[in-house]
Amino acid sequence: MIDITGLRKSFGPLEVLKDINLQVKAGGVVALLGPSGSGKSTLLRCMNLLVVPDAGRIRVGDTTFQFGASTERPGTKPLAAFRSRTGMVFQNFNLFPHMTVLENVIEAPIHVRRLDRKTAIDLGMSQLEKVGLADRASQRPQTLSGGQKQRVAIARALAMEPSVMLFDEATSALDPELVGEVLQTMQQLAADGMTMVIVTHEIAFARDVADRVVFMRDGYVVEEGPAGEVINTPRMEATKTFLSHFH
Ligand code: ATP
Ligand code: MG
Repeated sequence: MIDITGLRKSFGPLEVLKDINLQVKAGGVVALLGPSGSGKSTLLRCMNLLVVPDAGRIRVGDTTFQFGASTERPGTKPLAAFRSRTGMVFQNFNLFPHMTVLENVIEAPIHVRRLDRKTAIDLGMSQLEKVGLADRASQRPQTLSGGQKQRVAIARALAMEPSVMLFDEATSALDPELVGEVLQTMQQLAADGMTMVIVTHEIAFARDVADRVVFMRDGYVVEEGPAGEVINTPRMEATKTFLSHFH
């Protein structure tokens, strides 16, 4: 489903991604682990071209983008089409405060996918049901708990019917008692067969829900393999050191 080869990205003199190669199969769930500053968010943002890479190739489904000094930057339209096929969930929800929960969920389906309002509402309500918040459809986000806000953000991403869901520390901003409900929603999504890439510090969750773990350091993929194997018996020193902080 996702195939990344030779991906590079610098911000000025700072080389943040240095020749990243990564595959995610359809229905696969990959947990992206690594210390702060290792490039996890940048890699995730490259996957939906929120950050445009300097070099390399990214394929999602049947769409491929090639980057390099001699390659033209992709146009606005192909970029928008590509982005709409990858749902992204951030740490801080980014919900529109002046809209109801349902309006938040149907905004992009109406304005980006050009669905008629009735179709968008049906779709939006079914996504809210999926995250257990159909009864909150007419509330404003600020009347919800952090966990509920994040589940709305997930429903909103799902309403674009993406082929891939990307999560960047989706539970890091939550009070500890609210983490579980969001992880449970993500786990359900994985069980339903969604292809997912998850940046997380929830090591137990990564081991239980992801089928593969990719460990990054200093802009490189240092170690990669089946989730249980990498987490329980890491091979590389960097991975061992990182994981030892969670014991
Ligand atoms: P964390 O666990 O703290 O979220 P991360 O692994 O997600 O870290 P990134 O956010 O990808 O790391 O950042 C990698 C490096 O790139 C950092 O040194 C960061 O300061 C730098 N960086 C990221 N985005 C930008 C940007 N837009 N401009 C300049 N530097 C950036
Ligand atoms: Mg990050």
